[in-house]
Amino acid sequence: MDSITNFSLTESQAPLKVLFATSEAQPLIKTGGLADVSGSLPPVLRHLNHDIRLILPAYPEVVEKAIPLKEVATLYLSGHSEPVRLLSGVFSGNIPLYLVDAPGLFDRLGNPYVGPDGHDWPDNAQRFALFCRAIVAMALNQAGQNWQPDIIHCNDWQTGLVPALLHHEGNRPATLFTIHNLAYQGLFDRTTFQKLQLPSELWSHDGLEFHGKLSFIKGGLAFADRLNTVSPTYAHEICSTEFGYGLEGLLRHRDDRLSGILNGIDYQYWNPAADAYIHQYFDSNSFELKQTNKLQLQKEMGLPQDKSAFLLGYIGRLVEQKGIDLILELLPKLAQVENLQVAMLGSGLPQFEEALSDASERYLGKMAIHIGYNEQLAHRIEAGSDCFLMPSRFEPCGLNQLYSLRYGTVPIVRRTGGLADTVIDVTPQSLLDTSATGFVFDHPTAPALWEAIERAIEFYHRPASWWQKLAITGMRRDFSWPNSAIQYVDLYRKAILSPTPNPIK
Ligand code: ADP
Repeated sequence: MDSITNFSLTESQAPLKVLFATSEAQPLIKTGGLADVSGSLPPVLRHLNHDIRLILPAYPEVVEKAIPLKEVATLYLSGHSEPVRLLSGVFSGNIPLYLVDAPGLFDRLGNPYVGPDGHDWPDNAQRFALFCRAIVAMALNQAGQNWQPDIIHCNDWQTGLVPALLHHEGNRPATLFTIHNLAYQGLFDRTTFQKLQLPSELWSHDGLEFHGKLSFIKGGLAFADRLNTVSPTYAHEICSTEFGYGLEGLLRHRDDRLSGILNGIDYQYWNPAADAYIHQYFDSNSFELKQTNKLQLQKEMGLPQDKSAFLLGYIGRLVEQKGIDLILELLPKLAQVENLQVAMLGSGLPQFEEALSDASERYLGKMAIHIGYNEQLAHRIEAGSDCFLMPSRFEPCGLNQLYSLRYGTVPIVRRTGGLADTVIDVTPQSLLDTSATGFVFDHPTAPALWEAIERAIEFYHRPASWWQKLAITGMRRDFSWPNSAIQYVDLYRKAILSPTPNPIK
């Protein structure tokens, strides 16, 4: 595994030209952590003086929020009969934004990947292949912008074809491919490969073929000059059979170009001392004010208002990855615990949504759930809960445990991926050296999660100063972006200096 070393906190080298390619970016459009990263890393890189530009598909929500936009080019892209418009605007005050406008493919409201029936859009391969080809045109300075990036920063499978399509180009920029979640790979059948008119040499075991299917993510994994994931532990984990989805061989093969960089969080947007969505501001010097947020959250969620209740929060996608089944299994037991409450927010698999809604009726006054996506309520759950549950089976980085730490909400997490890298378990030793920030368990089972919750309950009932100290230690940990952004710059430079040899024999 490549370790990221030798980066200095003061950047002395020449600024880089970076094209940041992503299928979602907060506040324009968001389904998960990728949007948080795409919304907060580029502004920090801009602040470090790099010429960073963002490129996204022109979904209607994005167009609406990004106005004013102007049409700056018409692109004729292979594999697509219709010309595509390139729109240009500004992101986050001073970052050039490009939107790929192909109305037939992107002009749809709602989730960018999934239709109203809950299934992937049937033409996702066409949609994101076109997006990749537009990125390639920008990369090669063929989009009429008189600007060629030094590096393309690709994110997840939706941009996976970019390194593969660029690879044989003589005058190409370097490529970095960031894996935010290896579970989503962009797999399609072979006829789709033909329909997309991808170069035939890419249909090979060393190229995009994966067990007879077209794999978008392999384009990034096999061809990018550098690979990274969003935490060091996840970078190790994906090289194993347990977490690698059959791609572990390729990842091990590319081990010398693979590293992990922890995501930062946006310290302005997630700041309990100035969060417009919460009822009462607080910080590590006024921790006791957090109680007001607890009372307000209880009211909002229909739970009895009681300062002394032990309130467990959850926010996130309701999918197996997040260990929702473990929480469900424990709910009957949690409902028996005197003065314990659970407040949840999420949407996802219908069976989980239904089971949690049923449970909230069964355990009225003990457990409440809001099904749906609600950015503001997410802030209030972070501000009002005592503990945050994150029993994920795997977690590339995880953001909610970082928000929780910042809001003095002690995380209860499984020791995996970014959770293992960011939460320090309460042990006699970590209490002694005052490094403890949460409760960590090993096995993805309900009894293991229960044991961690029991430890938290027991700790909560010790003298209040113990809990305060634990929560405040978390609040004072630094997970801001600049540190991680500098590691990205280091990686960009490494990618530029040592291109990947052609993997296709
Ligand atoms: P993932 O990307 O796997 O979904 P992360 O923890 O990396 O998980 O990021 C999830 C992001 O999405 C966080 O910012 C979280 O607060 C937010 N989020 C997820 N579900 C919801 C929801 N139902 N309402 C509001 N925010 C949500």
